[in-house]
Amino acid sequence: MNTADYIIVGSGALARFAAFKSAQKGFSTLRIGSGLPFDRFLILHENALRSFERNFGSTFGHPLHGLKVLDKKLKAYRNFDFRKYDTRLHSARYSKLLEYIASHDQAAHIEAKVSEIHADGTLLSSDGQKFTARKAIINTAKGFAKPQFRFRHKKEFHMAFASLDFDREWVWQINDRGSYAAVVPFENEFALVYSGDPSPLFQLPGIRGKEIRFQRLRFETYYSSRYVQGKVFHCGEAIRRMHPHTGQGLNRGLDTLDAYFEGKKLGKEKGYDFALFLGGIMLDKSWGNNRSLIRASYRLLDNRPGVKMLSGTL
Ligand SMILES: Cc1cc2nc3c(=O)[nH]c(=O)nc-3n(C[C@H](O)[C@H](O)[C@H](O)COP(=O)(O)OP(=O)(O)OC[C@H]3O[C@@H](n4cnc5c(N)ncnc54)[C@H](O)[C@@H]3O)c2cc1C
Repeated sequence: MNTADYIIVGSGALARFAAFKSAQKGFSTLRIGSGLPFDRFLILHENALRSFERNFGSTFGHPLHGLKVLDKKLKAYRNFDFRKYDTRLHSARYSKLLEYIASHDQAAHIEAKVSEIHADGTLLSSDGQKFTARKAIINTAKGFAKPQFRFRHKKEFHMAFASLDFDREWVWQINDRGSYAAVVPFENEFALVYSGDPSPLFQLPGIRGKEIRFQRLRFETYYSSRYVQGKVFHCGEAIRRMHPHTGQGLNRGLDTLDAYFEGKKLGKEKGYDFALFLGGIMLDKSWGNNRSLIRASYRLLDNRPGVKMLSGTL
């Protein structure tokens, strides 16, 4: 089958979700993707949890109360409790979330790398096959659309998974000048992430003295409002990448696909993505860098409108 109503490009959570939505709406659907994305931890905000309930009839992930924030001497600074605002916060391993979404996605799939995507709805795979979408190509792969705005930050993140004897209900965050770190519980393990000086993280009880191997991650954050190019709809990191501090990259992509397949206008999605792109830069500049900015960012976020913004439910 080289022709379908919708051709979906990619093999991550958004491609799977797009394939599910397209098939659910009764369109013939073909997903073309190669490989699997690297594993990581994810924070699932209220918007994603509502989307799972609406589309799959269930929710997903490990429920959390919120963030416990410490300074680098491990003195408690703020309890950012999402329950106060009737908002949920869950965590998950990306590979598990992919399995969950894949269990609902019955669309046809071809394992191939896409090398060209054209605005007339045709695409080429790297082995020379041509495919045609009658309605649209939904593209979730990077490199086929040009961002309008880019933010290259200096922060280098380090991430690891570990078994720990630690709090399972809160994300613990160390956020102080020179040091940013987070401990995120999910299922029966934890994700650790830091940038800057890691020594405060290694002073936490349950982590002190542990041998943990970290993976280095470097990010670039970018945004473009040009979601649509002829018959091509770019979604997720194909068109914009949120800063990890906002925890909204995937969650917002799910909302955008929902809006697209439900025939809603995309102005709200673009506005939200841009606001979170700017918000991510603000958090990047403050968190782990400047005490006054750190305090200002929590004052902005730790209230009902702030949490609604962060959890994608404005
Ligand atoms: C460390 C880290 C933490 C994050 N935390 C959060 C969080 O807490 N909350 C949140 O919402 N988001 C978070 N994100 C962002 C989130 O992971 C991404 O926004 C989301 O996974 C993007 O999903 P995707 O399906 O678009 O792409 P991906 O998961 O990147 O999958 C795309 C896949 O498509 C395939 N592919 C690529 N190019 C081609 C091609 N040319 N042809 C065929 N197939 C191709 C590859 O297998 C590729 O891996 C985080 C990201 C990182 C790195």
